[in-house]
Amino acid sequence: MAPLRICLVAAEVTPFAKAGGLADVVAALARHLDRAGHEVRLVMPLYGRMRELPFKDTGTDLELRVGERHYQARVRLTDLPDSNVAVRCIDAPDLYGGEALYRGDEEDAFRFAALTKAAFEVCQREGFAPDVMHAHDWHTALAPLYLRTAYEWDQLFANTRSVLTIHNLAYQGKFPAHMTTALGLDDRRDLLHQEHLDEGYFSFMETGILYATAISTVSHTYSHQIQGEEYGEGLEGLLRARADHLIGIPNGIDVDEWDPASDPHLPAHYDASDLSGKRECKRALFERFGLATEDLDVPVLGCVSRLTPQKGFELVPDALPVLLHREDLRFVILGSGEDRYESYFHWLQETFPTKVGFWRGYDEPLSHLIEAGSDLFLMPSRFEPCGLNQMYSLRYGTLPIVRRTGGLADTVEPIEPGAGTGTGIVFDDFSSHALLGALEHAISLYRQPDLFLRIQRNAMERDFSWENQIGAYEDLFRRLPEL
Ligand code: ADP
Repeated sequence: MAPLRICLVAAEVTPFAKAGGLADVVAALARHLDRAGHEVRLVMPLYGRMRELPFKDTGTDLELRVGERHYQARVRLTDLPDSNVAVRCIDAPDLYGGEALYRGDEEDAFRFAALTKAAFEVCQREGFAPDVMHAHDWHTALAPLYLRTAYEWDQLFANTRSVLTIHNLAYQGKFPAHMTTALGLDDRRDLLHQEHLDEGYFSFMETGILYATAISTVSHTYSHQIQGEEYGEGLEGLLRARADHLIGIPNGIDVDEWDPASDPHLPAHYDASDLSGKRECKRALFERFGLATEDLDVPVLGCVSRLTPQKGFELVPDALPVLLHREDLRFVILGSGEDRYESYFHWLQETFPTKVGFWRGYDEPLSHLIEAGSDLFLMPSRFEPCGLNQMYSLRYGTLPIVRRTGGLADTVEPIEPGAGTGTGIVFDDFSSHALLGALEHAISLYRQPDLFLRIQRNAMERDFSWENQIGAYEDLFRRLPEL
């Protein structure tokens, strides 16, 4: 079959700029679509923090017009590691010169509208006629609208279809209705969500959902959940109306980067046939968190996460301390986010100094050590579009304790102790009581070493590699002309 021409445009790409799973997924998609023989263009901002990267100058200047504002930009290339993809970085210091990826204010509307336009302009300059314009999350969700308005005149895009991938519906890029003027959307205001405009706002995400040829999201369960009130974030009606064009495609993981048999961040390596190296990782983990290393048989529960309400941490205060008082257990957590959670984990560490370690911040190598050195991994998410850490955990033989929601429900199989099947501990209710029950269950499993090892092996044998998932994107892209 003829290769496809695909333009991806996103606010985050690993390893250049990452705030969450979005960055990993966009990079993996570009890499694997390229490996599958497709022609890929990947467009992202050149943030201040990327200044030191090696860039090749293309000599291409762009003028990005968003409403009355004009931004000058230069296109610079940098290589996406382990691929032939040259990333088109949009160098516009007025827009992206700061350190932060997101400002969290109304300027972000201009910054990402401009990025989205840059993707079209890059295609024009390169004479690249994409079969697919692939937008990711709210930041670039105006792409489907631009395709049928601002760039509709250009024959280059005559056969271009758009896909919007929702990585997290909780972030929608909502702005006051009056901003449509400044953003240059007034001449096609009739195309925006009229009811929401009447209520005083519009959002990038809903606009993308309205006009994308197809919408995808990152797990099967989440694709169903977002069509209901509990997870739909107010867009459930719109998503139901477009259900025929909405598909769940689970994320994969980078199995080369996340491989306990070769991970450069680990002091020892292991695989499903011989887990002895995991004990050395546990020792290193304890040392790193200043915990005593005499007893390595004590169970250790790990966690790596953004500290936000999404991740379910409000369940922890009425569950974990009960267990920490009662059991010989270690808990190590790496993350940053909202003050209330950071303060809580500081408090927990001070209260149980010999049992709890908290590292505030973002630390890629430490996240690998936690995955490898822990016995159990905590993810009590309120909602989880896909989740990557539970898949890393499974691959590292670290049994995940998860709430049955979104991608967690799709990737972690509940343990059946009698049959020795399953891969992790799954609970349903969003309550501390249910979490406590799951933690108790996990510890009792840990105390049955033969069964625990069997479950670890089940988990390590599961294959979540991108090679398995990329075909679903290719199928979707090929079906677009019929949708
Ligand atoms: P989300 O995108 O909602 O944050 P995911 O589980 O999909 O959650 O992806 C999170 C990614 O970010 C994972 O690769 C995880 O290891 C990484 N991550 C999150 N917080 C940290 C941190 N403090 N240090 C290192 N890596 C982190």
